[in-house]
Parts: sequence; C-alpha cells; structure tokens
Amino acid sequence: MSLAGKTAVITGSNSGIGLGIARALAGAGANVVINSFTDSPEDHALAAEIAETHAVTARYIRADMSKASDCRALIAEAGVCDILVNNAGIQHVAAIDEFPVDKWDAIIAINMSSAFHTTAAALPMMRQAGWGRVINIASAHGLTASPFKSAYVTAKHGVVGMTKVVALETAEVAITANAICPGYVHTPLVEAQIPDTMQKYGMDRDQVIREVILERQPSKQFATVDQIGGIATFLCSPAAEQITGTTISVDGGWTAL
Ligand code: NAD
Repeated sequence: MSLAGKTAVITGSNSGIGLGIARALAGAGANVVINSFTDSPEDHALAAEIAETHAVTARYIRADMSKASDCRALIAEAGVCDILVNNAGIQHVAAIDEFPVDKWDAIIAINMSSAFHTTAAALPMMRQAGWGRVINIASAHGLTASPFKSAYVTAKHGVVGMTKVVALETAEVAITANAICPGYVHTPLVEAQIPDTMQKYGMDRDQVIREVILERQPSKQFATVDQIGGIATFLCSPAAEQITGTTISVDGGWTAL
C-alpha cells in the first residue's frame, strides 16, 4: 500500500507516539507535517531527517495546540491535509478536589479541543480532495477511567465521542474518522518515570514495569510506537475504507477486564 501523494498532518509529533506515526506514514510514502509548540533547530532537523530517510516531503510547523487559532493555522499553513492525526496530549494526576484549574483547562484544550479545531479546518480540504482520514489518538482512558486523572479521562472520552460525530458527518464521502486507544506505550516519557519509581518503591526495573506501570495491562507488555504507527497506516489503507466511527484498542487486554 502506498500513500504517495497524500499529506499527513500529525499534531504533537516531535516525540513519542506522534513521531512514530509520522515515521510510519512517511515510510508508506506520505508527505508529513510534524508539529509541536517549540521551534528549535532539532525540530526542523527531525523533519529533514524524515524527508531524507523516506524520500518524502517533511515539514515542521510550530503551533501550540492549546490555542484554537494555532490549531487552525497549522492546517492552513500545511495547505493540504489528507490525513489528520490528532495526537498532541499532556497529563496531570491529582484528586479532583485538588486538581489545578490551569491544568484542567490545558488538558481539555490540548487533548480534546485541539482535535475539534484541526478537524474543522481539515475537513473542507478532505471533501475537496474526495478522500480523507481523521485518526484521533485517544487512550484506554477514552473507554475506561482511573482515579486522579479527571481531566485526561474526560478529554479522551470526549475525543472518542467526537470521533463518532465526525464519522457520521462524513459517512457518505470517502472520509473516515477513528480513534486509536492505546494502553501504556513505551515512549521516552514513560521510560523516564522508571528510575524514580524504582527508587520510590525499592523495586527493580522489571518489577516497576510489571507491578506498577503495567498493573492494569494484562499482557504485561508495553505497546510500541511502531505498532501504533502500523495501525494508523492500516487505517489509511483500502482495507480500512469501511472502518469509521470506531475505536481500536491497543492495550494488551486492559479494556477486556
Ligand atoms: P509525548 O510527551 O512523547 O508526546 C506528546 C507530544 O505532544 C509531544 O510531541 C509534545 O511536544 C506535544 N505537545 C504537548 N503539548 C503541546 C502543545 N501545547 N502543542 C503542540 N504539541 C504539544 O507523549 P506520548 O506518550 O507520545 O503521547 C502522545 C499521545 O498519545 C497523547 O495524546 C497521549 O495522551 C496518548 N497516549 C499515550 C500513551 C502512552 O502510554 N504513552 C497511552 C495512551 C495514549
């Protein structure tokens, strides 16, 4: 399957899952726009490296997904958006009665409202092109809850709901909208938590992974960014044409519990 000639915009893609998806789509031949809120030489070098590795066009566009105007400007600056991957996300953990209001607002804006703004800006381009894919990176927390993650769980459930609405509004054209719901994925962010947790609980690395981080993931294995990239690529393939308005869990059995 080739995505040659298609352009993918992936929000929050200078690291982790977003970067894995950008690499996978570029590997399938898509031109890619990668994004974050920073604007460093490393960000632009990353785009250049992806372009060279996969012989595609790759651009880095700075846009802060906490701001509605930036979300819409990202799509406008991309100029074309056949594949939209709403991936940017942050987390904060606190009891609901102690949850900082600024963290609540930031999580709702970045993890949920950004997908509304980018989708609103991208759908006219997809309709014009007669083809499109909206891929929202939700979470197992879009389908189930955990304590102390009120904003994150609310935002991710919201994204799953929005995915269904977008699918219904585009059902009669060749546009699909789906949400990928990962459990724990091995990203630099997750890796960085391991040493501190080892120290906190006096556990070795394997114990921290099995008993703390992957406590609720029955497979006791992380998903990988390459696997998430593979699923995003599959959703762009002809085999996935009739898959729309649904969620794909990649959680080692978490939501089967
Ligand atoms: P990450 O921190 O490596 O990546 C987050 C990305 O979002 C980064 O590129 C960051 O720069 C970007 N970002 C953050 N704030 C932004 C803003 N205001 N504007 C633009 N970009 C911004 O984390 P990740 O684990 O790769 O997470 C990516 C997505 O996957 C998130 O939506 C997250 O909720 C979801 N997810 C992650 C896991 C996991 O276990 N890692 C599991 C389920 C869902």
